[in-house]
Amino acid sequence: MKLAISACLLGENIRFDGGHKRDRFITDQLSDFSEFIPFCPEDLAFGTPRPSVRLVNIQGDIRVHSNKTGDDLTDALQQTSRNELSKLDSQSLCGIIFKSKSPSCGMKSAKMYLENGFTEGKEDGVFARLCRERYPLLPMEEEGRLEDAWLRENFVMQIFAYDAYEQFKASSPAMADLVRFHTVHKFMLQAKDEKLYRELGNIVGNREGFSFEAILGMYELGFKTAISRKSSIKKTRNVLEHLVGFFKKELTKSEKETLHTQISDYANKIIPLIVPLSTIHLYAQKYKTTYLLDQTFLNPYPKTLALRSHINSGK
Ligand code: SF4
Repeated sequence: MKLAISACLLGENIRFDGGHKRDRFITDQLSDFSEFIPFCPEDLAFGTPRPSVRLVNIQGDIRVHSNKTGDDLTDALQQTSRNELSKLDSQSLCGIIFKSKSPSCGMKSAKMYLENGFTEGKEDGVFARLCRERYPLLPMEEEGRLEDAWLRENFVMQIFAYDAYEQFKASSPAMADLVRFHTVHKFMLQAKDEKLYRELGNIVGNREGFSFEAILGMYELGFKTAISRKSSIKKTRNVLEHLVGFFKKELTKSEKETLHTQISDYANKIIPLIVPLSTIHLYAQKYKTTYLLDQTFLNPYPKTLALRSHINSGK
């Protein structure tokens, strides 16, 4: 899977002061599963080291000014941002991770200055804005937000689901393949967005008799939108309770009670999600419940990332 990353987060000495902002989660964990495509529009425009820049709101027009001289550098940064965007266009990306607070890379986190030098709110950096306009459905996050266990878990689940869809689409699928794809993602989608999950089921059901190309287009839009939604403890709990129903004939009363207690402890943030999930996984294996074992909800990404082992990965 390919991820575009602000080059300074990869440890490249490319910031305005010649330093970097290496992010260990990206370089030491995501690197095991991803190929990184680095970008740095400021280095392309001004070289390194360089004077720092800021966003300035001039009567509604967002400009880029040098902090040192006050010179307007907007055109140069926009040009190199477009160049970097063209570079990304040639890649099959599954996500972008931006450096937070940067006037080029920040996602709604770059300080906006007024002409009088005061600050007023936060905005997208120049390059982040272009990316959001060009790739509205592509997973995107900032490294700062990814320190939050809940946002990290949601983002990682999203990029792996996005990658799964892209691989599926590239496999020249037929209708039966789409049914299969939807089936294995059912509970993950339900934990993201119940309404979209049902709409996707209706799309696959195709009672209107649309062409497969039309179905695939509608499904892609719905799927990529659904995986961009954040899961919640409430939604995840509903799915877990639903999964327990698969074993209603096999489990003893006390086994069911134990499982319900685990789910309730998860909902009360006493134990992490991995606990009830592992129990469900164990029963699915024991009773050969293939339908559950195939669900991406149980294994949405490599388990070594251990993101569901954190109490704070649920909200
Ligand atoms: S935040 Fe963006 S523009 Fe600034 S050094 Fe990092 S990659 Fe370059």
